[in-house]
Amino acid sequence: MKTLQRTLTIVKPDAVRKNAVGDIIEQFEKNSFRILAMKMLEINKHQAEQFYAVHASRPFYHSLTEFMSSGPIVVLALEKENAIADLRELMGATNPAGAKEGTIRKKWGSSIEHNAIHGSDADDTARFELSYFFAGYELAK
Ligand code: ADP
Ligand code: MG
Repeated sequence: MKTLQRTLTIVKPDAVRKNAVGDIIEQFEKNSFRILAMKMLEINKHQAEQFYAVHASRPFYHSLTEFMSSGPIVVLALEKENAIADLRELMGATNPAGAKEGTIRKKWGSSIEHNAIHGSDADDTARFELSYFFAGYELAK
């Protein structure tokens, strides 16, 4: 039996500003992710801080949360087998300079901070992140 997994992704403000939303969503679909929910919104600094609370002690926390609240983002709940790892693969390395050819960060990222896309990194963080942005009734059956 197939075990489907869910993950949360964010098209970050830099990629929205570059009109990369359509291209990135196309890559999700071409790579067999099923979109369970999707919305565009802006979050404020406090909301970005809550979302990235695990990074609160990191030197880039302030700058990262300023960036994530600097303009519209698109958040999606995605589902497929092995969704978390497969999305991380499709995203590429955190620093676009070191990301593999063909990855979203290689194509659209411009710095280690402005790297176009977020993806959950584990089951527990995916659960938290999905519930941060989506209520259960908003997810497709
Ligand atoms: P990832 O998004 O690949 O899981 P992390 O969870 O380590 O990476 O970091 C979260 C986000 O913080 C990154 O996507 C990036 O936007 C930003 N970031 C990470 N490391 C740095 C850094 N050294 N300087 C500035 N921003 C960073
Ligand atoms: Mg991370």
